[in-house]
Amino acid sequence: MVVTEDRVLRAMTDDASFRVMTAITTNTVAEVMKRQNPPSDEMARLGDLLTGTILIRETMSPNLRVQGILRGAGGKGTLVADSHPDGTARGLVSLPQGMTSLPAGSGATLMMMRTLPNGKLHQGMVSYDSNANVSEALMRYMQESEQIKTMIDVACVVEQEQVVAAGGFIVQLLPELTESQLAIMTERLSDFPPMGKLLRNEATASQVLDELLYAMPNTRLGDSPLRFDCKCSQTRVVASLATLDRNELGNLLTDGHPIEICCDFCGKEYAITAEQVRGLLRES
Ligand SMILES: [Zn+2]
Repeated sequence: MVVTEDRVLRAMTDDASFRVMTAITTNTVAEVMKRQNPPSDEMARLGDLLTGTILIRETMSPNLRVQGILRGAGGKGTLVADSHPDGTARGLVSLPQGMTSLPAGSGATLMMMRTLPNGKLHQGMVSYDSNANVSEALMRYMQESEQIKTMIDVACVVEQEQVVAAGGFIVQLLPELTESQLAIMTERLSDFPPMGKLLRNEATASQVLDELLYAMPNTRLGDSPLRFDCKCSQTRVVASLATLDRNELGNLLTDGHPIEICCDFCGKEYAITAEQVRGLLRES
């Protein structure tokens, strides 16, 4: 397997019919798996959600953080993909005790949440059929919540519990689209190789983009690196403690020693001093 750098590419056809994003996310996804160590049942689904969330962020204005959250039936269990404007992403898996996959059935949802730099939130949600794939759920989200006709295919190739390759593409239909252009693209996508197969053949983001827009004059609008990173810090960990109530905070102060708190996303450990906890108790 050739080791390639994770990237996301953006292009638009010169007649303004389509916008296309393609991404290779192998290393980012593999790094998330290393930190989260999800049961093998959930590896491909988490990989798909990460790639899909990164691609959807790329379709939006460049300063947004986008989070994709899959929630199991009855609101039990979540997979989270967190994609930042600087190209970094991280993920989080929490499954109900004793379960090795997201509970299937009615009430499962896909939520996409975007955060503006000023902290304002926008969120949209669609129901998630756990038997369907993540690509279908993402397309339905774009259609129902964003009212943009979008074709999405994301894939994560897992072999022997290791991520071998991950990536995907988005084709967006733009308002200038003509009937004849739509017919060409529909036919092309109907026999386009599935992303999983392209990844197994070691296709690059650039090759997938060229194939999707073959013989359609287009302009590349962006080419950005992607990587795993976590935005946790001492300050943020202390701030997250502030959401606990006084009793819970008091319980952290058992013997005056610093407490170790682990970031759920990346596993980094932070030592919080008894003095910092007392400070929060004074403020609460
Ligand atoms: Zn972290």
